[in-house]
Amino acid sequence: MSYVDIEVEDIGAVRRIWHNRPAMRNAESQNLLDELDDALVQAGDDHAVRVVILGGRGEHFSAGHDLKESREKRNNLTVEERYRYEQKRYLDYCLRLRDVPKPVIAQVQGACIGGAFMVANMCDLIVASDDAYFADPVVHSVGASAVEVLIHPWVLGERKAKEFLYTGEKIGAEEALRWGMVNRVVPRAELEAATLTLAERIAQAPLFALTITKRSINRSVDIMGQRNAILAHFDTHELSHFTEAFKSTRPASREEAVAKGRTAVA
Ligand code: ZN
Repeated sequence: MSYVDIEVEDIGAVRRIWHNRPAMRNAESQNLLDELDDALVQAGDDHAVRVVILGGRGEHFSAGHDLKESREKRNNLTVEERYRYEQKRYLDYCLRLRDVPKPVIAQVQGACIGGAFMVANMCDLIVASDDAYFADPVVHSVGASAVEVLIHPWVLGERKAKEFLYTGEKIGAEEALRWGMVNRVVPRAELEAATLTLAERIAQAPLFALTITKRSINRSVDIMGQRNAILAHFDTHELSHFTEAFKSTRPASREEAVAKGRTAVA
């Protein structure tokens, strides 16, 4: 598969995958998500790869789902059609990213919003630049119950996750570090090098040791209920796409966002 919306490169045992739609703030279109899933599956299968970095070309990691595309292609989906689309591209792709059998590091600068927040937070580690910011404005912008994958309480803790989702306000990299959502914050100019240094340090370990360590930690949070909680939220989220609040808030906020050249979530 040759890629249009992502870019893949190898640096020794590190595979770096880039969102590569910088003019669109790396909005996660259907094609970008399909390509990302394909590249992650391949990175997981390739024994020469020990660590994966997931980054974004340009000013932003990603502004989230491609709102313009969703307005053009998926404006009037039935319950069944929307469920099928979101299950495959949001829920299943996110769980597959979480389960890549080796460490995946998100390298985040600028915006990391909505759908991009959930993608970055399915990674094992996050390195952020000092100008990175995170937001999930969906409760306010489209009246939906967060994005499709509710990873927020697991990475922010219950208290902060509620504040984050209830207010829809963004948090900066330093605050995300304080809350334990981000592993390291570095100056913007050093982001790429710092992330690669961390990846190369991890890549010195044998692949199987990394794989089974990840498996055990993921299984630990699964025993606490993470996977079931994520599956349960997905169904709740789907319900929220068909509420009166969604019908009334979505067209205005969407038109507004598209007019401003922004992408958003839903
Ligand atoms: Zn949705």
